[in-house]
Amino acid sequence: MSVDEFAPSDDLVSFADDAEAPPLPGTTPHCWRVLVVDDDDDVHRATAFALRGVKIFERPLQLLHARSGAEAWELVRAHPDIAVGLIDVVMETPDAGLELVRALREKGYREIRLVLRTGQPGYAPELAVISAYEIDDYRTKDEITQTRLITVLTGAIRSFEHLRRISHNRVGLELIVKSANRLFQRTNFELFCQGVLTQVASLVGVEAHGLVCAKTMNADGVANCRVVSAVGRLAHTLGKSIDESLDPAIAALCRDPNQPNPIFRDGGIAFHFTSSVEGQLFVYVEAKCEVAEEDVSLLALFSTNIAIAFENLSLIARLDRLAYIDPILEIPNLNAFEAALEVQRAKRTPAARMALMSVDSYDSIVAVHGPHTAHLLLRAVYRTLMEDGGEGLIAARIGDDTFALLGDPESLDAGLVGRAIAKPYTIEGIEIAVSATATLINLADVATDPAEAMRSASSALLHVERTHRGQVLPYNTSMRADVDRRFGLLTALRRVVNSGEGLWVALQPKVHLGTRRVVGAEALLRWTRDGEAISPAEFIPIAESGGLTQALTDFVVDAVGRWTRARTGQMPLPIAINLSMADLNNPGFARRLLTRVADAELTPETVEFEVTEGVVMQNAMWAISQLQALKSEGFKIALDDFGSGYSSLGYFDRLPIDTLKIDRVFITPLTVATARHSLAAIAVNMASIYNVGCVAEGVETAEQCQILEFLGCPVAQGFFLGRPIPIGEFAAKFLEA
Ligand code: C2E
Ligand code: MG
Ligand code: MG
Repeated sequence: MSVDEFAPSDDLVSFADDAEAPPLPGTTPHCWRVLVVDDDDDVHRATAFALRGVKIFERPLQLLHARSGAEAWELVRAHPDIAVGLIDVVMETPDAGLELVRALREKGYREIRLVLRTGQPGYAPELAVISAYEIDDYRTKDEITQTRLITVLTGAIRSFEHLRRISHNRVGLELIVKSANRLFQRTNFELFCQGVLTQVASLVGVEAHGLVCAKTMNADGVANCRVVSAVGRLAHTLGKSIDESLDPAIAALCRDPNQPNPIFRDGGIAFHFTSSVEGQLFVYVEAKCEVAEEDVSLLALFSTNIAIAFENLSLIARLDRLAYIDPILEIPNLNAFEAALEVQRAKRTPAARMALMSVDSYDSIVAVHGPHTAHLLLRAVYRTLMEDGGEGLIAARIGDDTFALLGDPESLDAGLVGRAIAKPYTIEGIEIAVSATATLINLADVATDPAEAMRSASSALLHVERTHRGQVLPYNTSMRADVDRRFGLLTALRRVVNSGEGLWVALQPKVHLGTRRVVGAEALLRWTRDGEAISPAEFIPIAESGGLTQALTDFVVDAVGRWTRARTGQMPLPIAINLSMADLNNPGFARRLLTRVADAELTPETVEFEVTEGVVMQNAMWAISQLQALKSEGFKIALDDFGSGYSSLGYFDRLPIDTLKIDRVFITPLTVATARHSLAAIAVNMASIYNVGCVAEGVETAEQCQILEFLGCPVAQGFFLGRPIPIGEFAAKFLEA
């Protein structure tokens, strides 16, 4: 051994075969780093000599040399992945080595294995110190032969590797949980894709250079795979096709959904995901380093999370779109139309005109030709209107059989409506003649508030339907009759809310589809006035406009309370009570309702509440706090009429709800052939993702029951399973039979 073999000016003597650049942080180095700390140059030389060319577990060693505790610290900080420290006990001070060991452990370096060496046997540390600082071995320098040194290092490296894997997995799992949370919070596709790229890169410990491709079908059924998000070195690929952006071998993976997740190929990691709604997604991240075995299983786990988050995001995106699109005709809906009115109002063009047009006898068309043909007919009418009305025309479906139109008076006139129904339509070989009733309204003649304008227009259309069916009449103030009726009803309601005259409560059963047992009921308010049954769809909005809903809710609570008390001793049955929008917007509402419910001796076992999507969304923060107050007392909340297209579902998961009630519009079009991809299926899925219960509303046929059961919706409500009947007759008909 000569002095020349060890260059004292060099701190770091590499024995690795290929002295490569330091590996990227977080990846496994290609060699084991061993720190030699000794104030005696001979010891460094001897160690370097003894370990020259040695490989342990097939990896070479890289020695880092320090001559004092302080130098050792610098090296540890620069190389946090040192596997073993061979440390001299006596250096600048008699216990400098022990001090270094203590400091290492106290500063959290738990994985590095430590072997103490001393020239003087008297400086052996006490056993307590050996165990407290996790010292792996203690030897006098005389004892250490080459073989012994290699044996000691092998044992130490084995336990280092073991510890490193455990802690790496723990850190990896923590990262996955955090990443999944972040991904689940993304409600926007763009952010979601960026999130996936950064999370994958950080899991592997590389910088994010990657892309996300989405595979969709164009109108001709041809697959199109484009880069929808790209970062780092691949940022330039944004918007390009996958073939232009990636190596053909990797691009080919995109087309092969049978590959396992993740796929490692040519210095990159790829994942692919399929959503039932949004098509396929392909994620590629460059990782020009060896990915450790344990990282592969972490990535596989992570890919499951991405898949769920992607599916989740797709559902939200789809439902969000539905807020403005009629789910059956796929044309704008009431929300979209009101938004267009709002835009119109902002433009202050007084000449604009709107029309409401209903297809006459639509119910009969549905009954005779079936809903499918009826929908195709409506779509054909819509197309004719749009083609004839020209560019500026906006048309929307705002009711089963009703379109709303917005445009300028030159094109939007009685002629437009007349031409749309002049000829019979031929739908799937069947000729159907159509007539329509409409009213034309100059926006200058009605309130500027879109909701108010719609209210005037709707009462005008009702009026024309009643008095001049099949005609197109311009709106005029004599159409106030309907307004008068509303006013008459409001006045009458004011009288009856206190006396309860003519008011009564019906119950409709909720049935478990698997067992056909009645598992609950919904309380529906009824009002009979001078022998005429007034629909709650008519009088509830009137009560809301007159501030009477609280009294009506109290009436229902009391009736349900009496019914429940009369059943004391029998199996409790939860009765759902509908809450009004006006109720939820009322300060102190929840507190007051809870008192009323307690007075009626109702408990979370015997009563629950339903609120409509529109109600909740309109004044979200306030409504949520009111609902939370009910929920914190244990009462369950159902989101009613889900899917009827009121508003955006971006913050659906913030609502404190226990059950989703799927609206009839999602149930009516259900057929065996389309069930899997139906909107009802999405809603059932949504309920399961958010872990809430699910009830289908408006179930009218045995086939719908079967489909819903197949889709995993446990409970249903509808005329097929039981019509609403007076509360006094309910038990005999549905519970005691
Ligand atoms: P909702 O809460 O969604 O109630 C379900 C409505 O669907 C009820 O209409 C029910 O009779 C009807 N329905 C049930 N099964 C079927 C079916 O198979 N086919 C069809 N076509 N319809 C079915 P109803 O009783 O006319 O009530 C209309 C709406 O009025 C209710 O919708 C609810 O929003 C409101 N409402 C009813 N009672 C009250 C009440 O006590 N308070 C408040 N605030 N609102 C109420
Ligand atoms: Mg309801
Ligand atoms: Mg409903």
